[in-house]
Amino acid sequence: MSEYDVDLFVIGAGSGGVRAARIAAGHGARVAIAEEFRIGGTCVIRGCVPKKLLVYASRFPDAFEDAEGFGWTLPQAPQFSWPALISAKDREIARLSGLYEANLERSNVVVHQQRAVIDGPHAVRLADGSRITAGAIVIAVGGYPVTMEFPGFELAISSNEALDLPELPERIIVQGGGYIAVEFASVFAALGVETTLIHRGGKVLRGFDEDLRDDVQEAMARRGVKFLMNDHVVAIERTEAGKLVRTDCGATLEAGEVMMAIGRRPLTAGLGLESVGVEPDHKGAIAVDEYSRTSAPSIYAIGDVTNRMNLTPIAIREGHALADTLFGGRPTSIDYANVPTAVFTTPEIGTVGLSEEQARESGRAIDIYKTRFRPMKATLSGAEGRMLMKLVVDAQSDRVLGVHVLGEDAAEIVQVAAIAVKMGATKADFDATVALHPTASEELVTLR
Ligand code: NDP
Repeated sequence: MSEYDVDLFVIGAGSGGVRAARIAAGHGARVAIAEEFRIGGTCVIRGCVPKKLLVYASRFPDAFEDAEGFGWTLPQAPQFSWPALISAKDREIARLSGLYEANLERSNVVVHQQRAVIDGPHAVRLADGSRITAGAIVIAVGGYPVTMEFPGFELAISSNEALDLPELPERIIVQGGGYIAVEFASVFAALGVETTLIHRGGKVLRGFDEDLRDDVQEAMARRGVKFLMNDHVVAIERTEAGKLVRTDCGATLEAGEVMMAIGRRPLTAGLGLESVGVEPDHKGAIAVDEYSRTSAPSIYAIGDVTNRMNLTPIAIREGHALADTLFGGRPTSIDYANVPTAVFTTPEIGTVGLSEEQARESGRAIDIYKTRFRPMKATLSGAEGRMLMKLVVDAQSDRVLGVHVLGEDAAEIVQVAAIAVKMGATKADFDATVALHPTASEELVTLR
């Protein structure tokens, strides 16, 4: 591939792009990467990482309350500063972004901090006008928050701006019922913001196990989130107090901020895809095969831009697999089965494998084991928090098809349970595992 300036050009320095670049360089390829915003991408700059830092912050009020049940007296009512949290979060994001950049440079990847677009099968054009030729090009540009067009839609913010609000509003309205809507609604409510979640459906988190959906919504409601279901925002007006929202069902609500979280779309517009004959689908996503190949032989795509499974660890795996395939002499594809995922609401969700509904739809005979209980920590503190643990088991083979947990540390619990599910563990294997007492997760091995 030496006729080109580089062997691999990566467009987009998010989780997937950075991994593809570094692994390819490790295999001896000459690699360049372009990023128009900040190195790190959605997850590091305006997604998983800053969101989780806010989630941590939002859980301290519970901890202060719990402490009293365990004999503590707080000297005075704890005070919270949103600007202090946001600047601490910004410092951490800057540190991580710097680390990503340093790692790229250490791996001998040439970093171009500017926009790049495709300019034919073997070239990209940078914003400064320069043209770089490449043996292969990887599109790893990710996605952006979808907006809905209605009068005043431009007055709404997305999760991008929510992470950088100069101050917390007294009231917020969140439209959407997916990961982002419920996570942010949960954070805002816990930080004392009067929060209303408006969702077009009857229940949040479509696609998750029904028990998880019911319990998380009920728990969030008990913790102060107001739900306006089967409705959506149709207009926003600016008022003296903030923003006035009108909904399709005729409700009018006033709030300091309105946040739309109605999904994300691949960022393919203006990328020069027409120069290589690649046409995104109706959602803007680039179709690829199991080796992340597009319909153009030298063009590849990984991560959210392909809209396969929009999760950071998946983008990382796709980037790694692609670099191994192209430069490591090891064609590698990804196994998308039994990928664990979490929703960082409070209480949080951890889940892996099939929901009860998916298992039933697959035509299998299944057994369901579930328990709802008050964790030991809640006994002295008087906290309301209940946990849900549920196993979906194939009645014939005894294999555990799904593990669903709602409650404190659900994500940590399910990450480990996912190893067992991935290995094909049976209910008998779970039962043969001795309980670790006293924990909440021991319930998973004592379910009858
Ligand atoms: P999701 O696709 O998860 O959810 C979108 C929500 O908006 C759904 O409730 C959907 O309703 C609703 N919606 C879609 N279109 C409209 C519309 N026109 N009007 C009203 N409501 C609408 O998107 P998110 O924005 O929450 O998150 C984007 C992606 O980011 C997720 O798919 C996920 O992969 C990733 N993510 C992962 C996280 C994690 O792992 N913890 C955290 C945050 C994001 P309906 O259900 O009816 O379709």
